[in-house]
Amino acid sequence: KNLCKYYPVFKKKFWEKKTYVKAVDNVSFSIRRGETFGLVGESGCGKSTTAFMINGLLQPTHGEIKFDGKDITLVKEKEIREKMQVVFQDPYASLNPKKKIGWIVEEPLLIHKKYSKKERQKKVSEMMELVGLDESFKSRYPHELSGGQRQRIGIARALMLSPQFIIADEPVSALDVSVQAQILNLLKELQSKLRLTYLFISHDLNVVHYMCDRVGVMYLGKIVEEAPVEKIYEKAMHPYTKLLLSTLSGGVDFDENQIFLKEESLLENSGEGCAFYHRCPYAMDVCKRLLPKLEQVEREHFTACHLY
Ligand code: SF4
Ligand code: MG
Repeated sequence: KNLCKYYPVFKKKFWEKKTYVKAVDNVSFSIRRGETFGLVGESGCGKSTTAFMINGLLQPTHGEIKFDGKDITLVKEKEIREKMQVVFQDPYASLNPKKKIGWIVEEPLLIHKKYSKKERQKKVSEMMELVGLDESFKSRYPHELSGGQRQRIGIARALMLSPQFIIADEPVSALDVSVQAQILNLLKELQSKLRLTYLFISHDLNVVHYMCDRVGVMYLGKIVEEAPVEKIYEKAMHPYTKLLLSTLSGGVDFDENQIFLKEESLLENSGEGCAFYHRCPYAMDVCKRLLPKLEQVEREHFTACHLY
């Protein structure tokens, strides 16, 4: 609720006003048990920052995070943290290259639980089987595995503490398209087997469409539209969501220029008008002066735009 993460900007001259980059600015949403909630937007829009505040890797500047009705904003309570785990973006970088797979999967238990060696081994085998890898992988090293296999290990590792809630931060974007679907299907399968709830972060709307129940579209640190995934596809309202969707048809990603423009506007973004003003084909006078609030336009469909 009202999550913010601000970073102070270095002042070049001492008389300059102190300014902040608002990496995440007043973001509110809720995730229902058993669903997959997607956060979608270009890189740098604040998706991962939001996720890292939720799981306690980053401390929010403002705002509140509740899990199971409990305020966990500043709590480092072990049991709650164990119920939330992360599957990271890059299975090449997130596994220790010097360790064997068996140890990598076992490590969370070594850190968090007082299990016997036998119990740990049993759980490792169980989780590896669950992600579709046999015993022989235990004695291999990460470099001997394909990207897809490595991400399976990343997933097995995240499941070791029997979490209820998984943050999947771009879990397939580092993988070949041919293996992306396998990993996505595995995540879906695990969700129903283990009754997991997902926060699914992605810049890829196709992937989001396949995985998510509801979606929040982020732009420059704010949620600009939130709706069930079908509504986002069939009747996107916010001009930014429409722009995102229009890039789908050609299968193109955002080009560097747009990202560059965005970073500049992040600094310019004083919080007065609409952050999308500089890129919006429908921009009106009011948009420059007045920050549009995220408001409900129809059932379960929210958008932050003066057009509505
Ligand atoms: Fe465009 Fe105005 Fe809507 Fe912002 S508020 S997205 S500038 S129409
Ligand atoms: Mg990210």
